[in-house]
Amino acid sequence: MVTPQQFDLVLKNGRVVDPANNIDGQLDLGIKHGKIAMVAENIAPDFADDIIDVTDQVVMPGHIDTHAHLSSPFHRNVDRAYGHAMLVESGTTTALDLAGDPTAMAEGMLRRGAGLNVASLMGLVPHSTITEDDPKSSVLRDVIADVKKRGGIGVKMLGGYHPFTPEVSANVVKEANDQLAWVAFHVGTKDSGSDMTGLREVPGITGNGRLHVAHINSYTRGMVDEPHEEVREALGMIERMRLQWVTEAYLAQANGTNGLCDEAGNLVYNVAQNCLKARGYPTTDEGIRAALLDGYGSALVERGGRVVLVTGQEAVDVWEAASTDASLSFPVNPPTSAFTLATAKYDDGTFRVDAISTDGGSLPRNVAIERTMALVAFGALSMGEAVIKLSYTPSRMLGLLNKGHFAEGADGDITVVNPATGRASMSLVAGELIMFKGRAVGRGGTWLVLEEGRAAAESSGLPFEVMNLENSRLYENWK
Ligand SMILES: [Zn+2]
Repeated sequence: MVTPQQFDLVLKNGRVVDPANNIDGQLDLGIKHGKIAMVAENIAPDFADDIIDVTDQVVMPGHIDTHAHLSSPFHRNVDRAYGHAMLVESGTTTALDLAGDPTAMAEGMLRRGAGLNVASLMGLVPHSTITEDDPKSSVLRDVIADVKKRGGIGVKMLGGYHPFTPEVSANVVKEANDQLAWVAFHVGTKDSGSDMTGLREVPGITGNGRLHVAHINSYTRGMVDEPHEEVREALGMIERMRLQWVTEAYLAQANGTNGLCDEAGNLVYNVAQNCLKARGYPTTDEGIRAALLDGYGSALVERGGRVVLVTGQEAVDVWEAASTDASLSFPVNPPTSAFTLATAKYDDGTFRVDAISTDGGSLPRNVAIERTMALVAFGALSMGEAVIKLSYTPSRMLGLLNKGHFAEGADGDITVVNPATGRASMSLVAGELIMFKGRAVGRGGTWLVLEEGRAAAESSGLPFEVMNLENSRLYENWK
């Protein structure tokens, strides 16, 4: 018999999995005032204002996606704000918008928000979000301070698209660290590519600092060596940088890139060049055209209030209509790399790569939960380990200490997964349904800002929460 108290909602008879509290069993979960109030056997229906029967479903702390795209300083031919509903429909409850713009993200959340909690980074794009190609430290300092004031939690370097020199890259890390701002790196500099050559530079660029090395799987596509050799090397590097890096990898085969060509018809971005090289296409406009017509490449288009992939002549038309500056996707992520990066552990049993992300949102590849559940079905991860990679560790990475678990008083952020399909069937944020049977039913969202962003958040009209990166794994034991 449980303590009599009135719950706003009880999720009844699910398999509640909360590894942080050693819980895995057929239990009821009571929610009150948006918080977890109780996990117990058989909460009496009299004490519930509302009940949802989740028999045979897995009830886990909400998926926290540490690499998503909900706004963008480029790729303007699709509205990135569609990503809110797309993430919600896959079961995500909290996301880090990795390299858009905080003001644009907040505006998109007001327009097309679907109930997510979202923290935002700004992508550093020379001549767009930052004035120069080789910004001085003082410029970087001001840009990072401004991002925080506008509600962002930090910045991301887009080395596969807008690389800096190694020196400037190191200064970005240092200036962000000095301000306790988040700093993420899609690796690659003016001296290297967005592949293993770029990753090999990152320990030097990190120096004594702290860094979020984004989507480790993107550098282990077999551009430099066999994919499994690249994975082995990457995992060794992660071990050496264990106290300084946080990392994630995603499980989709499809990547996201951009087909921009210069006036001579050559592909501008290194990532797109690599996609064509991987299948022997020339790295030109003719190569892109052929790859799209062959069905190897796809273009992103808006359809029915979501972003979907199209290929063939339709994709060529989209790419041409955007004067080649169109978002494209290629199936370049080897499943073997994805598998190993998702499952590799240290001897003490903790995971080498911290989290499983989507690198999705507005890119239609929000498969983190269903692919992780496939690894559970395969026996490569236990259900508790899946929750650690999808929710608990991401909560620690970001310092969202009230998320990622079901202790009494934790945020009522919950993802319910149907183990028969591997897909999320329902999710809640602060005790309110934001997704039901695969449909987004939430609106707006909660903007996660730093103390410096409080005024921007207040004037946005959005609900917001102030987060403190001193609690994050990125800045654990920092000075
Ligand atoms: Zn990304």
